[in-house]
Amino acid sequence: MRALRKINRWQDSGNIQLCSVERPTPGADEVLIRVEAAGICGTDIKIWHGSTWSNPPVILGHEYSGVIVETGRDVKNLKPGERVVSETGQVVCGVCEYCKTGRELMCDKRLSIGYGVDGAMAEYIKVRQGIVHKIPDTLSFDRAALCEPFAVALHALMDHTRLTATDKVLIMGPGAIGQLAAQAAKSVGALAVLAGLPKDQERLDAARSAGVDVTLTDLSEEAVKEIAGEKGFDVVLDCSGAERAIRQAMRSVKKTGTFIQVGLTKPELTIDYSLLTGKEIQIIGTFGHRWHNWETAIELMSTGKVRVDHLITGRYGLEDWEQGFTDMQEGRGIKILIYPNKREEAAKIEGDSKL
Ligand SMILES: [Zn+2]
Ligand SMILES: [Zn+2]
Repeated sequence: MRALRKINRWQDSGNIQLCSVERPTPGADEVLIRVEAAGICGTDIKIWHGSTWSNPPVILGHEYSGVIVETGRDVKNLKPGERVVSETGQVVCGVCEYCKTGRELMCDKRLSIGYGVDGAMAEYIKVRQGIVHKIPDTLSFDRAALCEPFAVALHALMDHTRLTATDKVLIMGPGAIGQLAAQAAKSVGALAVLAGLPKDQERLDAARSAGVDVTLTDLSEEAVKEIAGEKGFDVVLDCSGAERAIRQAMRSVKKTGTFIQVGLTKPELTIDYSLLTGKEIQIIGTFGHRWHNWETAIELMSTGKVRVDHLITGRYGLEDWEQGFTDMQEGRGIKILIYPNKREEAAKIEGDSKL
């Protein structure tokens, strides 16, 4: 089968090749999935340039949807032909505190698809049954490929706060996760404000057209007051990872409010630590997703309560991966999908469901 792999050393820039590799055989506890759509993530760009760890030779891709084509002998509740997505924690120990409490992404032994073990930018992927979620026919493969970033946004916003319709939420960074976090805030009726840089104007316009209440490129004190009132925002999420954005965002949190770090940052940055005592703000770190976030993402998208079509801004065949990666790197668009297989079925379902 065709697969997009990082080869040689992870530290080297480049070294990504479209290879011909053997189609994987599912183990007793695994299923084999034909990949219908796979999203390009910022992490893939970092792997491309050797600026984040990967485990070569390894197939890229950790956001995808597909159809089960084969099941291992111990797989009971999944069948060939079923439309699915999967979480990313393919290898975990299963016995540590984190595994036993549904926090498997914190497991020391974790290897995730797409950089730790083979991922979804290939015609087929095999994963363990424990991380597979079925998707209804009302959810197209394209939309379903956004389950992973949506689950990240839901974990960040919903698991660390008790968000209500009266809350005002500021999200820094209009990439896919920021956009989805804004949609998640809207889904409970909260005020969603999405901030970006002047170069993000197109992404911010897309967010506005999809119902995000306010977008802005200037986070001055006056602007914050105008939108959130004298107090400031109840919840602020940083999805940018940029030091300047984080410093600005922290000043916009109201007293006793919550600041959540979603975007990956450099190891050390300068923040106003006195806000913790001065304003009694809480700073919370978040990573990845949990089982229930996936179920929520599937429910919100398949019922049309959250719309994501405007986030899919590019579509490429696997052979044109470099164009897709380049678009992503240069900030053209929001989410770019790669199709490792022919698209007949995806196109049909796309046309059928106009949610
Ligand atoms: Zn990702
Ligand atoms: Zn574990």
